[in-house]
Amino acid sequence: MGLLLLLLAATLEPASGGEIARAAWRPPIELQPSARFRARSPGKRYSVTVPIGRPKPAVALPKIEGPANPRLPLVVLDAGHGGHDPGATSPHNGKREKDITLALARAIRDELVAGGRARVALTRSDDRYLVLEERYGIARRLKADLFISVHADAAETEQASGASIYTLSEVASDREAARLAARENKANIINGVDLGAHSSDVSSILLDLTQRETMTVSADFARLLQREASDDMKFRTSAHRFASFVVLKAPDTPSVLFETGFISNKGDAEFLASAEGRKKVARGVADAVRIHFARRIAAP
Ligand SMILES: [Zn+2]
Repeated sequence: MGLLLLLLAATLEPASGGEIARAAWRPPIELQPSARFRARSPGKRYSVTVPIGRPKPAVALPKIEGPANPRLPLVVLDAGHGGHDPGATSPHNGKREKDITLALARAIRDELVAGGRARVALTRSDDRYLVLEERYGIARRLKADLFISVHADAAETEQASGASIYTLSEVASDREAARLAARENKANIINGVDLGAHSSDVSSILLDLTQRETMTVSADFARLLQREASDDMKFRTSAHRFASFVVLKAPDTPSVLFETGFISNKGDAEFLASAEGRKKVARGVADAVRIHFARRIAAP
């Protein structure tokens, strides 16, 4: 009889809430289903790759300079042109735009780092070629708060002189701005990149709202930069200008293109090639950057 009861209990145990009975005395972790109830993980993983447009360029991210405080705003400076794309060439001193922009970007970086209120990264710190998407792509990947692309213009006539600050717009502010954007955007064609492949209606609708806010902040900074730099350098027009520059198309990074002057003009060419001129440009940018972020922090 005793044996029979024991057998009965053993038989009934799984059906009579054995799991609950065991739970009373086992540590809670034992309630987890045993591994043998789980599906076996596949020995080999499979994935499906769906190509979406061109693969993203994988340029190395530049180092971030300045204070090691990640809460400080990050400014990405982009020295225009480089490598096999020299940009404009000065008929006066033979200086190439790609060298002038790099020297200016370094001077601006030094001024910002010395100020200690912003972190800085350069899209290029040597003579290398980057397509336009890689330039703003670096700023986006670093989650930059501001992107400044530095250039120097050239014109057919000696008379054209003075700096201009440009922000993004599909409609150019004037014919000269439209021509300049077409010329600057050619930097990509040099490398065989098809610009037309990037503008799809769907993506432009999705980006529209973010981009509008970004464009407002960009325009605010452009006005501020022109105001702050006007004491130390000459500007071509009294207002900032706009056109469809590919390099300014990051939807979420406020961006300006700073044409620092005409290297086809003797005075501008000398100014931009001199250490004193670079220092003045750098000071103007640093002052504008400082005020810009102070305002952004103060804004509700
Ligand atoms: Zn340029």
